[in-house]
Amino acid sequence: MAKFFRAAIMGPPGSGKGTISKRIAHNFGLQYLSSGHFLRESIAANTEAGLQVKNYVDRSMLVPDQVMTRIMLPRLEQLSSHSWLLDGFPRTLSQAKALHDLCQLDLVISLNIPYETLRERLRDRCVHPASGRVYNLGFNPPRVQGKDDITGEPLIQHDDDKPEALMARLRLYKDVAKPVIDLYKKLGILHSFSGTETDRIWPYINSLLSAKMHIQPTVAFQSQSP
Ligand code: ATP
Ligand code: MG
Repeated sequence: MAKFFRAAIMGPPGSGKGTISKRIAHNFGLQYLSSGHFLRESIAANTEAGLQVKNYVDRSMLVPDQVMTRIMLPRLEQLSSHSWLLDGFPRTLSQAKALHDLCQLDLVISLNIPYETLRERLRDRCVHPASGRVYNLGFNPPRVQGKDDITGEPLIQHDDDKPEALMARLRLYKDVAKPVIDLYKKLGILHSFSGTETDRIWPYINSLLSAKMHIQPTVAFQSQSP
């Protein structure tokens, strides 16, 4: 029977999850599944669940676990014969348990990035709200200042990326993620990476995945990101 590979990535806002996930998906052929993307899809579908979700997402609050699992689990079930990487789910212990009942992860990557680095990155971050595309004025600026590359629509800075909201947001991430991380540690599948630059962390993640998936490591990705 074919063995499919299931991984998840965890890290605070600004930790470089998106960048690392894209590299993993690209190098290892894992399907990239982001909770934010699925939520935006359900909002766009204008269903009752979507309306409920919008209320939370607009205020950057965690969507309740029951709603979250009702959106995520059926989609994961449909991907039962794929290898994938989950970003943004599970975020709470209850989500992690619900996922564990459906399928067992092979590997969880947790990113530990110093507070000062996160603060700097989020200060320079702006997003295209409709698609979730993220830009960074320092190392990944939009082609036209203040405009999304694809649609040309305006970019915004999330209120919760502003310095005054950041502390609270990071504290919330830590409190909520701690039991999830402990669970994956106990299951022996947690791998933590620390550093201030994505390009320095990446080679370690690359070798880990190569070993776990029995693939020859590829040459480290060349990029200008932090
Ligand atoms: P970052 O990706 O930098 O951590 P973010 O989590 O705010 O930022 P998304 O992952 O795109 O961005 O998620 C957007 C919103 O969707 C979140 O602010 C939250 O409201 C909701 N959300 C996403 N994943 C979950 C989850 N697993 N549980 C509850 N709410 C979630
Ligand atoms: Mg996210």
